[in-house]
Amino acid sequence: MVDPYESLLKKAYEQITEPSGTGERFTIPEVRSYIEGKTTVFENLTELADAFRREKEHVMKFLVSELGTAGKIDGNRGIFNGKFETSQIANGITNYFNDYVLCSECGRPDTRLVKDDRILLLRCDACGSHRPVRKRKAKSEEPAKLFEEGKIVDVHIQSVSKRGDGVAREGKFIIYVPGGKPGQTVKIRVTRVSGSIVFTERAA
Ligand SMILES: [Zn+2]
Repeated sequence: MVDPYESLLKKAYEQITEPSGTGERFTIPEVRSYIEGKTTVFENLTELADAFRREKEHVMKFLVSELGTAGKIDGNRGIFNGKFETSQIANGITNYFNDYVLCSECGRPDTRLVKDDRILLLRCDACGSHRPVRKRKAKSEEPAKLFEEGKIVDVHIQSVSKRGDGVAREGKFIIYVPGGKPGQTVKIRVTRVSGSIVFTERAA
């Protein structure tokens, strides 16, 4: 009887043109996404998941938590509620890669996730090492700290409010920037936070 994993692995290796283990640098495929109405379509979710040899459901679950939104899988695409820059999705993908794919010992991506008791381990097929998957703090905590009063942060203005302020979005936060114009990235100081609404002034 052929082990399904072995046959998958064999298939995967047959598709690799470069011999593995040569120290060839793995490059993460470029994220392609676009905004459609009030959603963001991540066109090549499956391509990325396949490159990582991970389930697209797992990648998607990670991304929605990174972006602080909800989403669903539609064929090969991931669809997020809300408008996100391609760079935001690419950041999430990089974080996923570092946490769930990259072997910290040998720097190769030829790894798999295995459960040992209840601990999720990243096991490396290239060097045989394994490490626990790093537990990230819930992403929602990070922007909260980012938007504490007095913090200076770079934000990317996406639109203009009725009052004429620039509006940036970061996860669940809506950031108002006096005089901000769409397309600008500006340095701001947080003056007040009210729930998910962040008031700012220009810094520098
Ligand atoms: Zn390794």
